[in-house]
Amino acid sequence: MMQREFGIHMKGGVITERNPDLTTVRIRAPAGALSTDQLRGVAAIAKKYGTGMVHCTTRQTIEIPHVDPAHLKTVVARLEKNGTPIGSEKDEVVNIISCPGVERCKFANIDTIHLAKILDKSLFGKVMPVKIRIALCGCPNACTSPMLNEIGIIGRIRPIRTEGLCTGCGSCVYYCKENAIKIRNGISELNEDKCVQCGMCVKSCSFNLVKSLHTHYLITVGGRRGRHPRIGRELMTVENEDQVLFAVNRIIDWVYRRAWSGRLLSEQLDELEFGKFRDEMVKKVPHAEPAVPMGKREKPDTLRPAHF
Ligand code: SF4
Ligand code: SF4
Ligand code: SF4
Repeated sequence: MMQREFGIHMKGGVITERNPDLTTVRIRAPAGALSTDQLRGVAAIAKKYGTGMVHCTTRQTIEIPHVDPAHLKTVVARLEKNGTPIGSEKDEVVNIISCPGVERCKFANIDTIHLAKILDKSLFGKVMPVKIRIALCGCPNACTSPMLNEIGIIGRIRPIRTEGLCTGCGSCVYYCKENAIKIRNGISELNEDKCVQCGMCVKSCSFNLVKSLHTHYLITVGGRRGRHPRIGRELMTVENEDQVLFAVNRIIDWVYRRAWSGRLLSEQLDELEFGKFRDEMVKKVPHAEPAVPMGKREKPDTLRPAHF
């Protein structure tokens, strides 16, 4: 009995508090999406076994503070039954976070919540040499700061101006916050090096001339917040959810087999030649493309130079 309770206590979703006689219990909530019934269930558990308070975390989960360890077994069972099992915190794949994506946000290019749930099903809680945080966002506005996570996923659109009469109305210029579009000789012209591939111009043209040449998922690696924050590096782009799942699994495999425990993943990637690491990973994922940072992109073949 004691042994089993000790086992629960060692799980990542159970955190010993400053007062070591108490624990905080963190739940698993992929994309932070919970039904009202689940919220009521968590509230009832917090009332009965905690102090009636909960804490919403930066990783989109909920914590129940001040739980007596003697009640852990019951709390864990009740959370499981509620559809909100205990989460994770140690060196494992922890709660996967996401912005609302196409479900609600008018800027979104991808279905982030759906993808977060798929990734959660495949990877949540996997024990790793280092903690793996995964964050998704639907566009380069990056509301969930994906590039400050070990793995980030960002929905992007590469725009193209299709054949048709551009009136030079300037609507796309107005909507582009990066000053990546200018009107020259009465028609719009794109500066690829300034374009962050947000897709706003695609939605802005009343004449429907601007289309998405390439809707894709940018995958970044090696970011982190905390004591030594680092911005993740652009690794590869893929074109659909299956490929994202496949690619993220390959990255997780690599970390599992090759990373050292006790050291930040960002530092370990620093010691590699990143270009070689990127090539190795891209080769493992059919149809993936190496990510090309801004300023180094070639213009799409189908376009007249400097036009879109
Ligand atoms: S990252 Fe983009 S899609 Fe997601 S919430 Fe922010 S603005 Fe919307
Ligand atoms: S996709 Fe590029 S050009 Fe279009 S609005 Fe965004 S940054 Fe500007
Ligand atoms: S591409 Fe469309 S929105 Fe942009 S200037 Fe031409 S007509 Fe206007």
